[in-house]
Amino acid sequence: MRAAVLRGAGAGVEVEDVDLDAPHPGEVRVRVEAAGVCHTELHYISGDIPCPLPVVLGHEGVGVVEEVGAGVTDMVSGARVVFTWRPRCGECEYCVTGRPVMCVYGRVQASSGGLMDGTSRLHRGNEGIHHFLGVSCFAERAVVSRRAVVPIADDIPAAVAAVVGCAVVTGVGAVLNVAAQHGSIAGHPLLVVGAGGVGLSAVMGAHLLGAAPLVAVDVSADKLQLARRLGATDVVDASALPEAEVAGTVRELTRGGAEVAVEAVGSASTLRQAFEALKPGGRVIAVGLSSAKTEASVPLNQLVQQQKHLVGSLYGSSNPAVDLPRLLELYRTGQLPLGQLVGETYPLEDLGTAYDKLRGGAVGRAVIDPSLVPA
Ligand SMILES: [Zn+2]
Ligand SMILES: [Zn+2]
Repeated sequence: MRAAVLRGAGAGVEVEDVDLDAPHPGEVRVRVEAAGVCHTELHYISGDIPCPLPVVLGHEGVGVVEEVGAGVTDMVSGARVVFTWRPRCGECEYCVTGRPVMCVYGRVQASSGGLMDGTSRLHRGNEGIHHFLGVSCFAERAVVSRRAVVPIADDIPAAVAAVVGCAVVTGVGAVLNVAAQHGSIAGHPLLVVGAGGVGLSAVMGAHLLGAAPLVAVDVSADKLQLARRLGATDVVDASALPEAEVAGTVRELTRGGAEVAVEAVGSASTLRQAFEALKPGGRVIAVGLSSAKTEASVPLNQLVQQQKHLVGSLYGSSNPAVDLPRLLELYRTGQLPLGQLVGETYPLEDLGTAYDKLRGGAVGRAVIDPSLVPA
């Protein structure tokens, strides 16, 4: 099958003819309908964050189950599923205490380059090839753990379903699952830093819950325009301001600071801006990943005297089996306009172009359709 392979940090991604083994017990094979182009993979492509190589990339997507492995009793061929790169074992300390994103085995899978048992179904002849975060959906097909797919309805457009499994659950989840657990959002000032797929999703989630004012910060006027369409009441173009003035501008727009700030960029400077833009007692929810070496600092006395909170949230701190269908139901009923998040569609062979455009500030989430064959 055709699959997008990364062979070395900085080496670029090439489509190769890769072998895919049949599913082992507890696994399923999925024909990929669409896969989202996520900013996080740029860190792996450049080597900022290491992963086992060579690897078939792709970690958010949707497809149709073609084959189920032994012991899979709750899934049939023909089922439509979204991939989730945070499968849960259901038995570890984190799973049984309601925090499946932190699942011990899910974390092992993410770093091993294999599936839940640590082994891979991908190879090219005798050469072993790794899975990316247990998914590898920049390919015509993917074999994954049953726990790494969530059934969804047949009528959701593929591009919308594809982006739910990473960008949307991360951004909307930060608001619904983290911010809203610490106090009401309606009528309170909320800041979103970064208007890529995750940040725009956070804007949608905050708009859904009635945050006001709802301020978005980015360095792209086009992305900020989309943020406005999705519910931001005010936008700040940080490219037009000295860095030191961004937080003060947000505090003015919010008449004293944001109650909640979702930091979706993943840099030390934007994290600090988000922290300084808070009102006393406010909370930064950091969701943007950075290079493995990045460290961030915040003013210590603001942390203490103003009782500010700084928390991390991975994958929307979600319960994917419940939250992915829930988010798609909010889409179906018109409450989350996820279609507006979707950008251009490309064949697998144009993944490099899609990443170049992402680096260059493309608006909206690009989607790969592996059934497209370039002319
Ligand atoms: Zn992602
Ligand atoms: Zn677990």
